[in-house]
Amino acid sequence: MTAYDPNNIFAKILSGDIPSVKLYEDEDTLAFMDVMPQAPGHLLVIPKKGSRNLLDADPVVLSKLLPVVQRLANAAQEAFESDGVHVAQFNEAAAGQTVFHLHFHVIPRHDGIPLKP
Ligand code: 5GP
Repeated sequence: MTAYDPNNIFAKILSGDIPSVKLYEDEDTLAFMDVMPQAPGHLLVIPKKGSRNLLDADPVVLSKLLPVVQRLANAAQEAFESDGVHVAQFNEAAAGQTVFHLHFHVIPRHDGIPLKP
């Protein structure tokens, strides 16, 4: 398994070296707007503890992260009056991962409106 790279973009967002529009933060978790949203309200939820993706994540970290994903999915659905919410997560380049720090996409979805590519 490839090692976690502590210089990835999301690690730099966590350290403040790269700016972000923050939506939620606690001791273990940060949520911020995606810089290239695939639909209005597209946000990302990440753990502060570095892991490359879900495959190498600490289960204790996951147990704290998923309730935040759930809370923000509900908040996004309410705020954007969406018909559904897309929660997605990719592991390794072959599966579409481009930033190698575990993250969950939360995207409000409306009937009949496809995601931007
Ligand atoms: P992945 O394909 O790895 O699941 O998605 C990475 C996501 O990170 C993409 O949706 C992309 O738009 C987002 N992203 C990449 N660089 C930045 C950045 O510097 N700031 C923010 N807020 N999002 C980023």
